[in-house]
Amino acid sequence: MLLNKNDQITQKYDVVIIGGGLGGLTAANKLAKNGRKVLLLESHDKLGGFATWFHRRKHIFDVSLHGFPVGMVKTCRKYWSKAIADKIIQLKRVRFINPLYQIETDFTVEDFTSKLVNDFKIPKEQVDNFFNLIMNMNYYDNKEMTNGELLESFFPGRKDVHRFLIEPIVYANGSTMEDPAITYGIVFSNFMSKGVFTFQGGTDLVIQMMQEELLKNNVDIRLKSKVEKIAVENNICQGVVVNGEFVASKSVLSNGNLIGTIFNMVGEDKFKPEFIEKVKKVRLNTSSCQVYMGIRQGETIEDIGDLIFYSEAGEFKTDELLSMNTTSRTFSLYYPRLRPQLADAGYTIVASTNARYEDWAKLSKEDYEAKKQELIDATLVSLEKIIPDVRKKIDYIEAATPLTIKRYTHHERGSSFGTKHEGLDVSMKLHHEISGLFHTGSVGIIMSGWLGAANYGVIQSYEVDNYLDKQN
Ligand SMILES: Cc1cc2nc3c(=O)[nH]c(=O)nc-3n(C[C@H](O)[C@H](O)[C@H](O)COP(=O)(O)OP(=O)(O)OC[C@H]3O[C@@H](n4cnc5c(N)ncnc54)[C@H](O)[C@@H]3O)c2cc1C
Repeated sequence: MLLNKNDQITQKYDVVIIGGGLGGLTAANKLAKNGRKVLLLESHDKLGGFATWFHRRKHIFDVSLHGFPVGMVKTCRKYWSKAIADKIIQLKRVRFINPLYQIETDFTVEDFTSKLVNDFKIPKEQVDNFFNLIMNMNYYDNKEMTNGELLESFFPGRKDVHRFLIEPIVYANGSTMEDPAITYGIVFSNFMSKGVFTFQGGTDLVIQMMQEELLKNNVDIRLKSKVEKIAVENNICQGVVVNGEFVASKSVLSNGNLIGTIFNMVGEDKFKPEFIEKVKKVRLNTSSCQVYMGIRQGETIEDIGDLIFYSEAGEFKTDELLSMNTTSRTFSLYYPRLRPQLADAGYTIVASTNARYEDWAKLSKEDYEAKKQELIDATLVSLEKIIPDVRKKIDYIEAATPLTIKRYTHHERGSSFGTKHEGLDVSMKLHHEISGLFHTGSVGIIMSGWLGAANYGVIQSYEVDNYLDKQN
């Protein structure tokens, strides 16, 4: 049932889920299908978390629908519905434009292999060996080797090849050359197996279909409900406090930021000092900026590809990517075909850059506005190099910064992809510290992105289920 913000909640739930991002939503659906009484509390006025969209004039802007791996089809079919899975389609044209190369790919292992052999002139055996190694990596492998070391060992001195292989992942989950190679291997092989996919109908449709599915499976949903506190007594989770009201539940699954869950919603004093020491060592991932551009109704733009990795930097460096003056960004192009259900669907373009929260947070109000305008101007200058007459076709333009992300999702420092790899262990062991308290949502790089978050929701729903079974 969709509850009203002011509805009094008197019943005790099996599980309260804090946050309706893809992790929380998928866990809610799985637990409800298993017959659990589930309450989903979301602070925003709609579900989706980062998987969100917004309307400006006649435009609909998708915030994080740039591409996800084929695995999303199976996850949606198994844990959501066939109707949702059937709307997932492949992005046909992924392009790279930078001073070192201009390449178009369908993002499959076969095509990447062919590009590495034919364009980059790498012996086929060397390419096959590389893919064999990364396709077989798993979370328990050696975490000492970094992405930079992995690439250098297979393709020594080939900065162009390193860039070609790592650039997509840097945008896909905030990995850097300094992160452990296992996270790269797991995510890259996921992405590379059969291409990059999107949801036909747009983010608004997939979240609407998910909400309908949740309600059909008897999940109670309350929007505009920011959980202030997770109630814990004698190391056992008792429920949550939301809008000043206590809601009792046998367990709580937080889809909020891991660090925020521990320090803000539970409180440091409820955990063992050794655990808190470990939590303090968890590094957050970086954040993002985006520029949203709407094309005037009636105007068209030619098909120049769906996803373009664009950069004017001669060398691929983490610092350049994160700098406020970066020339490296992705352009996602949304043609009317994305929303066939709408008669007047138009064209929108979303540019994304990686960014550091602190660079934006330290600015005065005036400097912040000026930097936002600089970001918009720099984005337009780059885009004009791909679509020369685009400026005069745009009738709406707006930018989001790490501060915008923090405001909307409550992620510490506007982190786009949760935590670095060490966050996964903390997230998975939360219930060892406090009985009945679980976490799901972007952590550990591999559990982020649409697929990672949804799959982690499933994994944690099993943990909640086991716990509830033991209680009964
Ligand atoms: C700019 C950008 C582009 C991206 N592009 C892609 C992409 O192309 N492909 C891809 O696969 N992934 C992409 N991602 C990542 C992907 O969107 C996320 O990893 C994924 O959606 C995160 O899901 P989650 O379950 O971690 O929850 P989140 O999306 O983080 O949602 C958490 C939810 O919890 C709610 N919440 C938090 N605290 C509380 C509280 N106290 N009370 C109530 N509710 C609370 C928040 O409001 C939010 O709705 C992108 C991310 C960003 C930022």
